[in-house]
Amino acid sequence: MKINHLGIAVKSLEESVPVFEKVFGVKAGETEYVSEQKVNVRKLSIDNCDIELLEGTRPDSPITKFIEKKGEGIHHCSFEVSDIVNSLNKLKEEGINLINETPRTGADDMLIAFLHPKSTAGVLMELTQFKGEETI
Ligand code: ZN
Repeated sequence: MKINHLGIAVKSLEESVPVFEKVFGVKAGETEYVSEQKVNVRKLSIDNCDIELLEGTRPDSPITKFIEKKGEGIHHCSFEVSDIVNSLNKLKEEGINLINETPRTGADDMLIAFLHPKSTAGVLMELTQFKGEETI
């Protein structure tokens, strides 16, 4: 298993993107709107993982709510798996609380599912599977 990306909640992509571009010395990709989460996403690819900057587009976006409660910062950590349905079933069996029992579509058209941070030391973890590897 490897880390695919870190999701960072930001108030404004316009303000944050240039800062992260300076820090990592790379240009961010185009803005992608993920309707499921009501967020605009811009990614920066660094050597071993991506940085996903997330800006809520509506008051009921999970990212807008997160920033209201905790401020800007690391929102989630995403791990790549080869068979997301199998991984979710296994984790559930092992007593891990799942936010998403079935995968949904995230940025880059990948399948994603979140684990409940209550089970994982307060860290919101996301499983990611590239759709091309879908085994269903
Ligand atoms: Zn993510």
